[in-house]
Amino acid sequence: MTFPRRRFLAASLAAFAAPLFAQQAPALLPATKGRRVVVVGGGWGGLSAARRLRELAPELEVVLIERNAAFFSMPLSNQWLDGRIDAALLTHDFAAAAKAFGYTFIRAEVSAIDRARRRIHTAGGSVDYDWLVLATGIRHDYGAWLGDDARAIAHVRERFFCAWTPGAEFAALKAKLDAFRGGDLVMTLPPPPYRCQPAPYERALVIGRMIKRRGLRARLHVLDPGTLSPRFAEAFEDDYKDQITHYSQAKVKALDPFGKTIATEFDDLRFDDAILMPPQQAGDLAWQAGLIGRDAEGKPTGWAAQDPLHLHALEDERVFLVGDLIDRASLLFGHYPKSGRLASRLGAIAAHEIAARAQGKIAEPLLPDSSCFIYSRLEPAELTRIDTHYRVRGDGVIAQTTQQHHDPNPRGEDIAWAKGMFGEMLAYK
Ligand SMILES: Cc1cc2nc3c(=O)[nH]c(=O)nc-3n(C[C@H](O)[C@H](O)[C@H](O)COP(=O)(O)OP(=O)(O)OC[C@H]3O[C@@H](n4cnc5c(N)ncnc54)[C@H](O)[C@@H]3O)c2cc1C
Repeated sequence: MTFPRRRFLAASLAAFAAPLFAQQAPALLPATKGRRVVVVGGGWGGLSAARRLRELAPELEVVLIERNAAFFSMPLSNQWLDGRIDAALLTHDFAAAAKAFGYTFIRAEVSAIDRARRRIHTAGGSVDYDWLVLATGIRHDYGAWLGDDARAIAHVRERFFCAWTPGAEFAALKAKLDAFRGGDLVMTLPPPPYRCQPAPYERALVIGRMIKRRGLRARLHVLDPGTLSPRFAEAFEDDYKDQITHYSQAKVKALDPFGKTIATEFDDLRFDDAILMPPQQAGDLAWQAGLIGRDAEGKPTGWAAQDPLHLHALEDERVFLVGDLIDRASLLFGHYPKSGRLASRLGAIAAHEIAARAQGKIAEPLLPDSSCFIYSRLEPAELTRIDTHYRVRGDGVIAQTTQQHHDPNPRGEDIAWAKGMFGEMLAYK
């Protein structure tokens, strides 16, 4: 089987955006007397940017625009799928955070960015900005598997969704797993870079344990374009040999979502149900706004190209790029880990950059850091913490150091970390 040719959504979005700009859209907010920063995306990056902007530049009006009704944390979501924590800890109110920190929250989906006019568009009207923080996360590139076949893509989204972006898919995945009664369940992993690299393996452990506990005649097939780390390999082999099969270097070559078959270079599988994670890219708006980087051959990298030290878009110093949507940070290690903590740090750094510019200064460059907790084993529990730190080398290139800590006796350090982050981003007490 071969893949049909792909067409980029960017082209259709750009075509759709052009007539939109020509219309005289009503303003969503009255004109500001001072200067305004619009933050699009209320995830880990955008929430941190909005909060820090109010602290560092109280003279600026700050507006956060987010399409979802409530914040839902993907960190800890595997524990929630496993029934170990309550959804209430992961779900938070955007309006309460905006009130606590003193910015304006608008629930709306941004359909287009007009960089020439410094204006964003929503179905309900437009908002002008002096600076824009784009923190809209990722999108799934189903076209890499299914080309232009809109019917097949819609079917995968509806039936074999992966719950890797905040929204309704998480509740749907929990309902699907709760109702699972057996058979072959396929889970594909995307090629790197993708958000939270160890999280799919943790999710596989959760599903393996679910199959084992319920005594189901079932197997989880994990199709992984990479290889398994020794720690996860040990946990899969020791604890879930009868429940999980992991396939290394299993890049998806062909998918028939209607016939429920999937092929890699080495294997052809038939599945009863699936959690299908295609390659990831920067979200739609970065494409529509013309902010995607190009590789040495001029092809789109798939990610929004930022100045590595100041985080503004390479194309536009009025637009700051924050979180999982950004492109490579360094020729030494490529992408920053796409983690919540790192996105949050980037949001704070963008706020620091904008505050300096608003005050007519050049900001001292700041670098992020990342900390990620993941269960590398469930029975008995082992919690792994992955920390990364950065420095600018003498030649101006960003260098990374990584440390892993394995805790065979976890006592809720991950939950304490998440509560601390929710406090910083969402005024959680
Ligand atoms: C299962 C799982 C487990 C994870 N575990 C961890 C962990 O333990 N630790 C960790 O640090 N990280 C973890 N992560 C990664 C972490 O969740 C992400 O790195 C983080 O969410 C990235 O933040 P972001 O702000 O870039 O994007 P997001 O959090 O995705 O936020 C983007 C926001 O933009 C909104 N948006 C998008 N487009 C529009 C639009 N057009 N108009 C308006 N709003 C829009 C979206 O609704 C969303 O709320 C995990 C991720 C997953 C999926």
